[in-house]
Amino acid sequence: MAKFDLIVRGGRVIDPAQGIDGVHDVAVKDGTIAQVAPRIAGKTARTVNARSQLVIPGMIDTHAHIYQHVTGDFGMNPDEVGIRSGVTAVVDQGGAAPLTIQGFRKFIKDPAATRVYAFVSNYLVGGLLGHRHVGLYGPHGINVRETINAIEKNRDFVKGIKCHAEVGGYSRWGIETLRLGKEASRAAKVPVYVHLGRLWAEENGTAIDPDRVIGDTLPLLDPGDILAHPFTKHPGAFVSREGKVHPLIFEAMARGVRIDVGRGGHMSFDAARIALDAGVMPFTIGSDIHGYTIRRRDESRVWGEGAFGGEQGELTTIGGTGAFSLVQVMNELIALGVELAGVIRMVTVNAATMLGLTDELGSLAPGRVADVSVLTIDEDDWTLQDSLGVRIKTAKRLRPVLALRAGRVHHAESPLLEERVPEVA
Ligand SMILES: [Zn+2]
Repeated sequence: MAKFDLIVRGGRVIDPAQGIDGVHDVAVKDGTIAQVAPRIAGKTARTVNARSQLVIPGMIDTHAHIYQHVTGDFGMNPDEVGIRSGVTAVVDQGGAAPLTIQGFRKFIKDPAATRVYAFVSNYLVGGLLGHRHVGLYGPHGINVRETINAIEKNRDFVKGIKCHAEVGGYSRWGIETLRLGKEASRAAKVPVYVHLGRLWAEENGTAIDPDRVIGDTLPLLDPGDILAHPFTKHPGAFVSREGKVHPLIFEAMARGVRIDVGRGGHMSFDAARIALDAGVMPFTIGSDIHGYTIRRRDESRVWGEGAFGGEQGELTTIGGTGAFSLVQVMNELIALGVELAGVIRMVTVNAATMLGLTDELGSLAPGRVADVSVLTIDEDDWTLQDSLGVRIKTAKRLRPVLALRAGRVHHAESPLLEERVPEVA
């Protein structure tokens, strides 16, 4: 009779929640963490050799789009984004709506091998085709009572509300959609996750000063609310038209408003440097992976081409390699100078904090669910490329090897991890 079901042996364990960074074994029993110690004796049914690899709490992607099929070619397969990419939990941001949340539970969350959560859309229709049809997303398309209902009936996996604050909506409706989202958020006691930076074109004949949007947005936010896309190239976000971080951002951070990278097509290394140098440190990462950020190797056609037209139709596979994953975004932050332990904190305990799930996720403390990510560190000369084609060098790169979800081994073999030769920008 084995004492443990599985032991991950000899890896470098980094668990920021517990302040652990050292070579440890991690023992699993009945789907939970039983013990973490330098050398664990005792019988085990299975051993995973993690020597010279990194062993961290299961990674949580706080922003992805996985309402597959219902959101058209915008929605990704949850397990390709999640467990098959070494990521044990994925948060869908705004795909599921008050009117479609039951389908998300039945067809996405329940069948997935990955742990799946959702920030429900602020809008009755949700993120169909990546919000292509702007007319659906005004105050007329929001019903606060329905939003609250969707949260209250699905508290096991709905952890917040996805909202937008950007020039296109602002030119039509001012800040009203976010105000309604906050009304539901305060009533249901969940945070809002706010997309910043242009999503839709301004209404014909209007020109909005993008810095006005952020000025009207921040006073509405409470501690625990989340601002996304700090490093976007689009105007109306963190970096003002003068090339400086908007002073109100610091005031909001001091109040406990959190920042999520929301990578998607929103990575400008230059904007990131300005923000990081000014002291804007993201709380969580969020790959913001969706169908328009990737090219599928198993498809001859290019997904999402011209989906929005113009700049939003661009393909944003990371570095033009055809691949896209949470770990690649972590690599970008490492290349920008963020410490490894800090980056790991963002995808583990911080992400669990954002979801209000620190009792279950985000740490390898005994009694937590046995969600574990095992990564390898490749040391070589790598070039990373942002959404504008700007390149930076890095000497260190993480790569997912496997993940445990509730103690079960899943190898990292998602097609989204496969890189091809980068194209010339
Ligand atoms: Zn997104």
